[in-house]
Amino acid sequence: MDGSVPNSWFQQEDVYPSIRRFWEPHVHRFFRGNIWVVEGRDADLVVDFGMGIVPLRPHLGLTSGKPVIAVATHVHIDHVGSFHEFEERLGHRAEAEAFAAMPDDRTLIETFRELADPVAQPPYEGWTKQNHLVTVAPLTRVLDEGDRIDIGGFSFEILHLPGHSPGSIGLLEPGRGILISGDAIYSGQLVDEVPGADVGVYMETMRVLACLDVELVLGGHNAPISGDLTRAIAKEYLSQNRSRREQSHSRE
Ligand SMILES: [Zn+2]
Ligand SMILES: [Zn+2]
Repeated sequence: MDGSVPNSWFQQEDVYPSIRRFWEPHVHRFFRGNIWVVEGRDADLVVDFGMGIVPLRPHLGLTSGKPVIAVATHVHIDHVGSFHEFEERLGHRAEAEAFAAMPDDRTLIETFRELADPVAQPPYEGWTKQNHLVTVAPLTRVLDEGDRIDIGGFSFEILHLPGHSPGSIGLLEPGRGILISGDAIYSGQLVDEVPGADVGVYMETMRVLACLDVELVLGGHNAPISGDLTRAIAKEYLSQNRSRREQSHSRE
C-alpha cells in the first residue's frame, strides 16, 4: 500500500478484500471524511467523495472502461465534493433536490469556510477557503429504503438512516456483514445539531443500528469499527438522549 506518498492529498488503506478507504489527511478533522471503493466483478462502487478540493477520481485507481456506480450517503460537503466527477450518481430521495442545487444550508460549506484552519496545508498555490466552490451533482438514480445495488460479488441493500440529515443512507452487505454507514454512525463525536438534523429521528435510526447484525462498519469518518462497537455506540446514544429528554421534560 502506498499510504504515505509525500505531497499526496489523499491517503489510502485496504480495509477488507476488495474494499479500500481513502481520506484527506490535511483537511480539518471535522470535514475529513472517508471515501470507500468496493471493487465488484461487474462494476466498481464508490461511496462518498471528500471535499472536492482536488480532483478525486484519478487517485482511486479505478479500472478504465469498467462501470462505476457512485453513491453519496448524504449531501454534506465533506461527502459530495467530487460527486460531480462521476456519471452515474445515486442518493436518497429525501435529498434529491439538495443534490441538484447544493444550497449552503444543506452542504454546510459555510461551516467549513468559517474554520480558522480548514486545511493544514493548501493543496496548491493560490488555494483559499473562499474560492473553494461547491459543484452541483444531480442524482441520476434516486434511492429508497430496500433498494439493491449489485456489483458482482457484493450486493448492497439501502438502509434509510435519517437523523444526522434527512436523506442519510447506509449500504448493507448482509452476506458479508458489512455496513457502509455514512455519518449515521462511526467512532467519534456524532453530529445531531446542524441544520437538517433531528435527534428524535436519529433515535429511531439508532434503535435500528443497536440491533443490526453486522461485523464490520465503515463509517463516514475515522477508522472502521466492529459490529459490537457499533451496537454499543447506538445504545449509548439512546441512553444519553433518553436521559437528556427526561431532564428537559422534568424542567418544563
Ligand atoms: Zn454529515
Ligand atoms: Zn461527514
